[in-house]
Amino acid sequence: MTTKLRAIRADITSLAVDAIVNAANSSLLGGGGVDGAIHRAAGPELLQECQSLQGCKTGDAKMTKGYRLAAKHVIHTVGPVWQGGNSKEAELLASCYRKSLELAVNAGLRSVAFPCISTGVYGFPAEPAANIAVKTVREVLHANPGLEEVVFCCFSAGDLDLYQRALQ
Ligand code: ADP
Repeated sequence: MTTKLRAIRADITSLAVDAIVNAANSSLLGGGGVDGAIHRAAGPELLQECQSLQGCKTGDAKMTKGYRLAAKHVIHTVGPVWQGGNSKEAELLASCYRKSLELAVNAGLRSVAFPCISTGVYGFPAEPAANIAVKTVREVLHANPGLEEVVFCCFSAGDLDLYQRALQ
């Protein structure tokens, strides 16, 4: 089965996939940006479940239900804060994509959508982040043919452009 890898421009909270990925902070108790949008759309039960998870380390991921979202699950991952590039930011960002997909595969999920992790408030430069995302997801997909669709959900036209180039 061929896995479909594509980039779209959308609000990730609108996507009816098996799991959307949240660019969370290590408390998992909500925040701004895509995290805030996901919690608003999912409703208060999401925060309740997140409160039971005892946080998440940078580069790691934890899964919850999707509650009022069209997506069945939310995979919360904590991206690195950009500190200039010499603090393992690239490795940690790759780990976010890898660990998120591992959770999805282990749960038998078939479609996953990612936002542009770490590239908002956390300040990771968008172009290297897109290249890391595409490379890492391709590697995981290669080893896991059960995953049918991975979507890079871009919020800006500029990000969509970067992903389309990285996917070529
Ligand atoms: P981080 O703290 O990991 O940098 P942010 O939420 O600040 O996370 O930004 C990550 C990315 O999510 C940015 O590219 C931002 O434009 C994007 N984003 C914000 N809201 C949404 C949304 N509703 N759907 C998809 N992407 C979003």
